[in-house]
Amino acid sequence: MTATKPVRVRFAPSPTGHLHIGGARTALYNYLLARQTGGQFLLRIEDTDRKRFVEGAEEELKNSLRWLGIQWDEGIDVGGDHGPYRQSERKAIYQEYARKLVADGHAYPCFCSAERLERVRTEQQKNKEIPHYDGTCRALSPEEAARRVAAGESHVIRFKTPKEGATTVRDLLRGDITVQNSTLDDYILVKSDGLALYHLAAMVDDHLMGISHVIRGAEWLATLPLHCLIIRAMGWNEPVWAHLSVFLKPSGKGKMSKRESADLIKDGHSIFVKDLADLGYLPEAVVNWVALMGWSYDDHTEIFSMADLIEKFSLERLNPSPAAINFTKFDHFNGVYIRSLTVEDLAQRIQPFFEKAGLKADMPTLLKIAPIIHERLAGLDEAPEIAGFFFRDEVTPEAAELAAKNMTAAQSAKVARDAHAILSALPEITPALAEPPMRSYVEQSGFSAGQVFGILRIAVTGQKVSPPLFESMEIIGREKVLARILRAAETLEGLA
Ligand code: GLU
Repeated sequence: MTATKPVRVRFAPSPTGHLHIGGARTALYNYLLARQTGGQFLLRIEDTDRKRFVEGAEEELKNSLRWLGIQWDEGIDVGGDHGPYRQSERKAIYQEYARKLVADGHAYPCFCSAERLERVRTEQQKNKEIPHYDGTCRALSPEEAARRVAAGESHVIRFKTPKEGATTVRDLLRGDITVQNSTLDDYILVKSDGLALYHLAAMVDDHLMGISHVIRGAEWLATLPLHCLIIRAMGWNEPVWAHLSVFLKPSGKGKMSKRESADLIKDGHSIFVKDLADLGYLPEAVVNWVALMGWSYDDHTEIFSMADLIEKFSLERLNPSPAAINFTKFDHFNGVYIRSLTVEDLAQRIQPFFEKAGLKADMPTLLKIAPIIHERLAGLDEAPEIAGFFFRDEVTPEAAELAAKNMTAAQSAKVARDAHAILSALPEITPALAEPPMRSYVEQSGFSAGQVFGILRIAVTGQKVSPPLFESMEIIGREKVLARILRAAETLEGLA
């Protein structure tokens, strides 16, 4: 079923760490559906678990979403008619609904101590039973329970899960899922400190915020029956549920551990959105890449801009099978998007990388460099490595590297001297003026173009591999080029 009516969807992260590509994908799909249908995309912060709260996580999350080009219509910062949008500010609302569930006989206060619950659990494990609440407080009369609550006795609120029959829920990707109610626990909805848990808080919020489609991670499939039971007990309409596929490590074997995720950065990769800009990725490439991890348009189209995705995304083409994270594909997309940038855009985007490398990169020079490095860049972060020599006063190649292959230092020094003489005679060093006399020189020198230009390349750029030599010389400028060649000649003579 394609959503044609304007949807109301939300991304509801917990501020417990960095936004990773799985979260980015969830946010993206929700955003696409909202934009496609002219609906609203909400950003809600689920911060009821204060123990897992990480300072600064919310700020980073917002920056990551904005960097990806995902804007929310309602939620933290931007406001809206259904706030507050931070669950820690909605405590009283959840308590009100918890009281309603208790009053209607769908939930009950539980006074069991942690020690007692632990004993029950150990006993159940000994008997090879799946640990579950044994129902002691479920059996209390409502009057007794109310009296103990009024007396101030510490308690949680548990959902009174039906014990008979079965519950059928529908996930858009997987169809109907039926579970026997006897396998469901009496889950805690409100903790003894009065704070609601996700199960209650999210259901209440989704209802009050008018959410029509819940698109979230597959880790919530297991508690989907509970969520549906809560909604049904409240007498509310259910949203459309879509649980996205899980991500597997690149090998396809299992999920990525915390440690493995952190280690990726050594290879220039990361699953955390905050790292990707520094690693030289374009947000366009990230969006394209994550969009295709669990969704496809057809069996061959690969390149999708945000505008394409807004037009073409559809819930029907979501795939529930686990998706292996493919960084090769990511790098490929990044290259494609870098090559599609205009020269001006590329110059703007590489500038910060030079600054970070301590190089003052002025825009007029960047605009000249961008066209000659454009094809070579696999990531924006490579720009200073490939083209840093344009902004250095001097380059300092290793003396030993200056001599060309199969040539002595003395022979290499002579080539540098000769090139210096030829180029000094020119009013300017441009490809048109410098290349022909240098090619004639190669002809009569008895050395190969590779050897002669290799010496000049390392002398002028300090690198064995560089953008086109004569174009580079023109950008560096006659004076600096001649000085660098002269210095190389002197260094080589020192070795001879
Ligand atoms: N706070 C939950 C999480 O971060 C959100 C799940 C949902 O989208 O409902 O996993």
